Amino acid sequence: MKYFIKTFGCQQNKADSERIASAFTHRGMTPAKGYGDADYVVINTCMVRRSAEDRVYGLVQNLGKLKAKKRAMKIVVTGCMVGLAFRDKTGKYLQSIRERMPEVDEFMPIEEVGFDNQPVRQDFINAWVPISNGCNNFCTFCVVPFTRGREISRSYEDIIEECLHLKSKGYKNVTLLGQNVNSYGADLLVGENNIQVMRDLDKTYFSEKANIHISSQSLGDGMSHKPVYVKHLGRYRIPTLFPYLLEQVAEMEFERIEFFSSNPWDFSDELIDIIARNKNITRLIHLPIQSGDNTVLKRMNRWYTTEEYLEIINKLRRKVRGIKFSTDVIVGFCGETGEEFQNTVKLARLVGYEKAYISMYSQRPMTAATKVFKDDISHAVKKKRWQILEDLINKPHLKRHQ
Ligand code: SF4
Repeated sequence: MKYFIKTFGCQQNKADSERIASAFTHRGMTPAKGYGDADYVVINTCMVRRSAEDRVYGLVQNLGKLKAKKRAMKIVVTGCMVGLAFRDKTGKYLQSIRERMPEVDEFMPIEEVGFDNQPVRQDFINAWVPISNGCNNFCTFCVVPFTRGREISRSYEDIIEECLHLKSKGYKNVTLLGQNVNSYGADLLVGENNIQVMRDLDKTYFSEKANIHISSQSLGDGMSHKPVYVKHLGRYRIPTLFPYLLEQVAEMEFERIEFFSSNPWDFSDELIDIIARNKNITRLIHLPIQSGDNTVLKRMNRWYTTEEYLEIINKLRRKVRGIKFSTDVIVGFCGETGEEFQNTVKLARLVGYEKAYISMYSQRPMTAATKVFKDDISHAVKKKRWQILEDLINKPHLKRHQ
């Protein structure tokens, strides 16, 4: 029996596909060269934009034609679309994908795959290592908290073990992956409802208990640490272990360690210091801004201002020689005025990003923006704004003339 996996979307999905491959290998199957010779086709889906979802519907339709000609091919759909379908308590989304894709034999939640087996990697130099899954932040435009659920951190020891294994196999580079790596470990320390727990705590908690130590066993390095409390708008927020994890992986002497994605509101001073003192940690930091306008950021439920964002950039520039930045931007978010967009352009000029992943806003099911705001910027205006930023940030030959 042979399997073929088609992956849509981000690096996290690609890392998940390596673990899906592992699960199939453990069932005694081998990889197929393409759809044509596969007994099982697994489609790992993405929902970040409507276009990604539409591509899945198109592919399943084409596979349906192949399946009609070919013997017993099975089509399995997993990833974000299935995650949302199983989390939508009304059952409407599951019903709608079942109706739109009758060719599918199984809708498989990605959680069924798990971390138990070693991933089947195609690359023998660079490895992705998932450290957490899901997100607690509920940015109003983003479907991820609904597709992947609440943030769950993988055990510290498991991650360390996987990285040591990669080192022993000769891997040179690792990328630590999560929707928000900076808050890694919060649930391990204060439970799954960590943000709520921390918000509801009395202020004195932090003066009295901020120095609690985590047992050396849970850190896996025989040392005692206290968690880093990540601040938000001058208030303590949640404890995280990410700075320690990053440093411990850096000390394994890989040539390069990257981490992705990393939200501005959880970017601690401790993390900056650790990047500064470990030269094998990437000097290209991905720090999603999404918009360079404070009122748009508020509508997006992004918990930082452009001033705070620039403060992180400046701190990193002061402490880390040769640091560069990449980012994510959404253009044409609900109600984005010309002036608000120009603030994003100004901020992009100020930071001088190396690269940006620019997307035109599209409504996503279950998100607050879809429920509360109007998607009122025309496609033509979104496209124009997208082009302006694309030329400014991602076209180096044009950059020289600006
Ligand atoms: S931080 Fe915001 S944009 Fe990123 S995954 Fe979470 S909800 Fe989505």
